[in-house]
Amino acid sequence: MDCIFCKIVKGEIPSKKVYEDEHVVAFHDINPIAPVHILTIPKKHISSLMAIEPEDKELIGHIHLGLQNVAKEMGVAESGFRVITNIGTHGQQTVFHIHYHLIGGRQLEWKA
Ligand code: 5GP
Ligand code: ZN
Repeated sequence: MDCIFCKIVKGEIPSKKVYEDEHVVAFHDINPIAPVHILTIPKKHISSLMAIEPEDKELIGHIHLGLQNVAKEMGVAESGFRVITNIGTHGQQTVFHIHYHLIGGRQLEWKA
């Protein structure tokens, strides 16, 4: 399968990792939109939130705990931040391996 995030998981494409455990890897977005912009992904290929299966429930919880670690590691746990997962066309998803953008390091606004 030709998935850039699976290649990042396997180390076939380089990335600047900030957190990794058995199930999750987090790395700097190549095109950051804020001073802190980290992508957190499961090592398992899941194409989007809409492809999550009941058997993935524990993994999804694990990702949230991983996001806490990423926020602490990036120094935004106290100031606050945002977590976003884009889905499909209207969501402007461009990479079809589920990923959670963690954005912060400045005051964010809420616009869609
Ligand atoms: P989406 O638009 O699907 O929600 O987000 C995909 C994100 O992946 C974008 O913010 C884009 O900058 C990032 N991205 C795409 N290709 C690469 C890559 O090869 N390496 C890294 N680190 N980020 C990437
Ligand atoms: Zn993948």
